[in-house]
Amino acid sequence: MIKTDVKEGIEMKKLIVLGAGESGIGTAILGKKEGFEVFVSDRGTIKPKYRNVLDQFEISWEEGSHDEGRILQADLVMKSPGIPDSAALVRQLVDQGIPVISEIEFAARYTRGVLIGITGSNGKTTTTTLTHHLLHKGGLNVGMAGNIGKSFAGMVAEDDKEFFVLEISSFQLDGIREFRPHIAVITNITPDHLDRYNYEFEQYTASKFRIAMNQTEEDYLIYDADDEVISDWLEKHPVRSVLLPFSLEKEVSQGAWINNDKIVINIDNEQSIMSTDTLVLEGKHNVKNTMAASLVAHLVKVRKQTIRESFENFQGVEHRLEKVLKIQNVQYINDSKATNVNAVHYALDSMSAPTVWIVGGQDKGNDYSVLMPLVREKVKAIVCLGVDNSKIIDAFGRVVDVMVETQSMEEAVKIAYKIAEKGDNVLLSPACASFDLFENYEDRGNQFKEAVKHL
Ligand code: ADP
Repeated sequence: MIKTDVKEGIEMKKLIVLGAGESGIGTAILGKKEGFEVFVSDRGTIKPKYRNVLDQFEISWEEGSHDEGRILQADLVMKSPGIPDSAALVRQLVDQGIPVISEIEFAARYTRGVLIGITGSNGKTTTTTLTHHLLHKGGLNVGMAGNIGKSFAGMVAEDDKEFFVLEISSFQLDGIREFRPHIAVITNITPDHLDRYNYEFEQYTASKFRIAMNQTEEDYLIYDADDEVISDWLEKHPVRSVLLPFSLEKEVSQGAWINNDKIVINIDNEQSIMSTDTLVLEGKHNVKNTMAASLVAHLVKVRKQTIRESFENFQGVEHRLEKVLKIQNVQYINDSKATNVNAVHYALDSMSAPTVWIVGGQDKGNDYSVLMPLVREKVKAIVCLGVDNSKIIDAFGRVVDVMVETQSMEEAVKIAYKIAEKGDNVLLSPACASFDLFENYEDRGNQFKEAVKHL
């Protein structure tokens, strides 16, 4: 079957982009620049701003349905991460032997930059932003992309960089073939998104480790050595990359660890020591994120002094343990991005005052038992915020004295305000998805901040 068109005497390969979100539009622009005949197809509606971009680049597109006849003629398909592998059209493409890849796979083929890929269940955005901050302050020509901000492909097309720090989800990793980051980071692996992995944790773990599958002895894998899932996996499935673990619990031969409350970094017998007192980010999890980001910065030779100074002026990321306001000596904290139990664990662990905890939303099959000791120790009251709060009430009803059900953010914040006393914290850390009452976690966090400001 001949699948190429001839235009002006040049054979053009057909690139089909499924899904016209940020990654789809970026891929389309890069594909066009690299000489593909590009067609973008979205079963939903395409945002006007994206339609305009496609028109501006003279890229053809459709919305509302998929022209299967045309799509099945593709040489290459880029599928947006939101479309599951189980979608009928994707299966058909795979059955016909048409390569279906993700945006990072496509973009990586055309960049001249050194790639730093960051994945994990929690901490991706924080670690990515922090790493970018360190490299940027270190004077490197560095871009930040992936699941965060602008698309990687779009940046490669319009503003290629010498370094890219990429936040990479497991869905993006499912669609790689040759993608090979020079430095890979796995922050941790805890159950999440299992609905997309046949409810098999092994499959999800395997997906995360794809980040290292094309790495060689010249590349690095940075990971949390305290995470048993990661350590067990590495024992059974060794990788070729140089391992640089980080740990809060033990000294490692190469990597990062804690000694006398200080972070020790050791790479190739060169040591660097950093105080943890000056870190703006709070919580043990952020010490881990800091270690991961520092290891990357050391590997790409940012000066030690610059690394230390840069941590002191990093202000954190919105909706992640974000301090909103102190009202009558009560600290209000927005951790709306805590959409799973593990993230909440770290949030509660970092609370140093009695806490009124706002929790709930769309349940993701949560097992709350791991939180029990922390809830006993730190939580004085629970404000449930969800359409169905029964699981939370069942889990904590007998542990916490005060438990109130609410159905809107305004109500939740007002109740929390009434319960909290001087010196307490009010923490929004939902452990659940937001879609029952909010558009997304950002909307939930913004509504929280608004409600706090109006107290
Ligand atoms: P991701 O991009 O992987 O979702 P974020 O940096 O957005 O990660 O953080 C998501 C949630 O997880 C926040 O509540 C944050 O406080 C918490 N978190 C951040 N880093 C870690 C970590 N290393 N381990 C556990 N939880 C973390």
